[in-house]
Amino acid sequence: MNNFTYTRATSPLEAVNQGITDPNSLFIAGGTNLVDRLKVFLDQPSQLIDISRLQLQEIETIPDGSLRLGTLVSNTAVADNYEICHNYPMLARAILSGASQQIRNMATVGGNLMQRTRCPYYYDTAFPCNKRIPGTGCPAVTGINRNHAILGASEQCVAVHPSDMCVALAALDAVVEVISPQGKRQIPFADFHRLPGNAPEKDTNLESGELITAVILPPLSWGKSGVYLKIRDRASYSFALISVAAAVNLQGEKIQDVRLAMGGVAHKPWRATAAEVFLIGKSADVATLTEAAEMALQEAKPLTHNGYKVELAKRAIRRALTLSVQGGGLA
Ligand code: SF4
Repeated sequence: MNNFTYTRATSPLEAVNQGITDPNSLFIAGGTNLVDRLKVFLDQPSQLIDISRLQLQEIETIPDGSLRLGTLVSNTAVADNYEICHNYPMLARAILSGASQQIRNMATVGGNLMQRTRCPYYYDTAFPCNKRIPGTGCPAVTGINRNHAILGASEQCVAVHPSDMCVALAALDAVVEVISPQGKRQIPFADFHRLPGNAPEKDTNLESGELITAVILPPLSWGKSGVYLKIRDRASYSFALISVAAAVNLQGEKIQDVRLAMGGVAHKPWRATAAEVFLIGKSADVATLTEAAEMALQEAKPLTHNGYKVELAKRAIRRALTLSVQGGGLA
């Protein structure tokens, strides 16, 4: 049993000020991942700061045309929002594929970003794990690694990021807004999550005491062509073996712009930037989409049991791009 104090913040600033009084504090909102971790002592905070009642629950259009999602907006509210379904359908589809209605009702925007890997060795405290206790080792490197990373991993950690929503946010060039006692700052989504390197215990580039207040979606006039394709072991809810968020802006026969990101492949949502650059100005034919998929997986380094992911990812990319070229959306 780990004893902790519980406090309920009445403003974002009060929450972060409460946080810096005790570096072993954690913020809690929906708790859909944190409570699971508390139950098995993966997290042992001395203080839990409840932020669930803060006024950060709005979806609003801001003057530059971006959509600002308050950190406490539920996943249900995001997936049901008209603007998101219409202009950012890959995001709605990613959320709907991620968890059951009950979990979506509780899970929040900010919490989704702060999810930790579901690597089984991380959750099983009978095993060592560099993410849980730095320097103890990574049993997944030589153990069962069917669900683990094929891109961007290190010898210290081969875990994958679990979120579907974050794959779409990466493709949409979202921006994360955070607050600390020093003020506010914005973090481009590509810089929010980290690769494991030599510090797999750190999932994000948040500084100690910072609280996510919103996620901002820049305008994307052709976002309605977006799709989210998720491949999983079973038809009911499960984490992605491979997922792809894709949107193609087709002008006549040529690709004018494109977004492409993958989930289930790395410690962070993986943006396939080189493949995007390759596709711009090309015809959206099978040969071109196939070459882009090859390019996106060029750096893949599969482990003993996850070589299948390389070919699966290539096929998923081709399929997602094809669906987007055909119109995309929620269909
Ligand atoms: Fe821990 Fe990462 Fe290795 Fe999993 S892959 S056991 S999370 S260090």
